[in-house]
Amino acid sequence: PHDQTWKQLTDHLGEWVTESKKRTTDGHVASYIPELANAPADILGICIMDASGSIAAAGDSNFRFTLQSISKVFTLILSLMDNGEAAVFSKVGMEPTGDDFNSMLKLELVEPGIPFNPLINAGAIAISSLIAGKDSTEQIARILTFFREIADNPSLEINADVYKSESDTAHRNRSLAYFLKDNGVLDCEVDDVLRTYFSHCSIEVNCTDLARMALVLAHNGVDPIRNQRLIPRRFVQIAKTFMFTCGMYNASGEFAMNVGLPAKSGVSGSILSMVPGQYGIGVVSPPLNRKGNSTAGVHLLGKLSQEFDWSLF
Ligand code: GLN
Repeated sequence: PHDQTWKQLTDHLGEWVTESKKRTTDGHVASYIPELANAPADILGICIMDASGSIAAAGDSNFRFTLQSISKVFTLILSLMDNGEAAVFSKVGMEPTGDDFNSMLKLELVEPGIPFNPLINAGAIAISSLIAGKDSTEQIARILTFFREIADNPSLEINADVYKSESDTAHRNRSLAYFLKDNGVLDCEVDDVLRTYFSHCSIEVNCTDLARMALVLAHNGVDPIRNQRLIPRRFVQIAKTFMFTCGMYNASGEFAMNVGLPAKSGVSGSILSMVPGQYGIGVVSPPLNRKGNSTAGVHLLGKLSQEFDWSLF
């Protein structure tokens, strides 16, 4: 039996998607990873999943895309599960930067030369190096197994074309990794950690997968559909706190003000968000604003939050 909110959601989601889709013309599809530039600009899809697994979906909800930076939330969780809090926070800090996601600025500022937080590229590269495994091949296999478990989808795979495209053009991420290596943050080789990092960024999903993954976070690490704990509660608390303060990069404050929910964006135009205790949400629309977040996706989440008073405050 579904409540009034769910009925309103399923009744109106289509119109809200149509309205927000007009915002796709305000943004530009990411092109610094050449393969991502092939994504169509006139796409907006959303999937919202409740604790019973019921789905409210609208727009291009079957469109497939790569996780990109959304993967950083789940590699952070896996690295916490592998190493514990103390070890992880000896390699990354806990503060937002106010800079672009791939910024080289401030890398020296947190003692002793560690990245500000695990969701900017530098921090996520440091986190990738902490995933347990004897080499990057084993780390990548463990990441894929973990992501498939959280998404409850054994068919998740790495998109090889996106991986290659990013790897071939990642001059900036390569510089960040060399910088971390020089600061003593990485215990492995730069090429190995980048293989792991590009691989998890290139895992391909759709909005339903995103909503399913978000649902586990919304329920503090318990998958409410299989009624099974997948992640310790404390690590979900850490992940959601970072999503709230740093998940939308240097637009995290604005997003917190206008939407008020934990969220993480990726340059594929994807956003994973949630209504804590209730819904998992996956959104995709490739055109991005100046800060690297989906223009139509952010607009749609703002509309939903206002409509249902979803802000945490
Ligand atoms: N793979 C992308 C990169 O490292 C992820 C960035 C993003 O999604 N914002 O540049």
